[in-house]
Amino acid sequence: MADKSFFVDTSKCTACRGCQVACKQWNRLAGTKTLQRGNHQNPSDLSFSTFKVVRFNEVELEGNPSWYFFPDQCRHCMEPPCLSTAESLGSKAITKDEGTGAVIYNPKVKVKAADFKTIRESCPYDIPRMDQKTGGMAKCTMCFDRIKEGMLPACVKTCPTGAMSFGDRDAMVDKATKRLEALKARYPEALLADSTDVRVIYLLTDDPKKYHEHAVAENTVGITRKLALQYLLRPISNLRRFAG
Ligand code: SF4
Ligand code: SF4
Repeated sequence: MADKSFFVDTSKCTACRGCQVACKQWNRLAGTKTLQRGNHQNPSDLSFSTFKVVRFNEVELEGNPSWYFFPDQCRHCMEPPCLSTAESLGSKAITKDEGTGAVIYNPKVKVKAADFKTIRESCPYDIPRMDQKTGGMAKCTMCFDRIKEGMLPACVKTCPTGAMSFGDRDAMVDKATKRLEALKARYPEALLADSTDVRVIYLLTDDPKKYHEHAVAENTVGITRKLALQYLLRPISNLRRFAG
């Protein structure tokens, strides 16, 4: 199968949460207790049994309440830091499908709590979650069982507004680029979040921090994560030379 990607056009998202529910249903994930916490977002975060959560950020714009909606999920990174971290720890819990690029966790492979912490911290988008009882990890699977049969991921299939698309990467990049051009006149701050590094390309109409603290990766301005990793792995003596 060819390299795949999602395109998520947040300008079309109404926060109906259909994608969130479809993900739970298709993947047979346990229900999560929801609570009124003063805004419309439920549940409060991703978890071992919540692979997708529509985040609501309420702000005041020109004296009126307004919301930024962000259907958050694993980005299926082109060069996934979670995978390289797991490999460096000797864990086989994470694999990448070389055809589609899907990054897949095996929840049956146990990881130590300390290793999970390291893996989670390596993710620029704070995605991996662990089941404390079993020691397994989980996150979005790209609905690999569906896409290998030629179907769309459940979230994309369900989205009623056309905010979510999925297909061959070149086609998704093209669609995202054209939509960005079309929206620039209305939203001058619009951007494609980390589009060269990830397989889930979000179109944001405003400052990413208004959507969610992990809407874009931190500390990678002007460099790719691979370069950042190489930089971090340099011996101390080289770092001094790099800085000086
Ligand atoms: S978003 Fe995080 S969990 Fe998903 S592939 Fe990238 S590093 Fe891994
Ligand atoms: S199904 Fe579509 S419109 Fe509804 S919350 Fe998800 S991305 Fe937004």
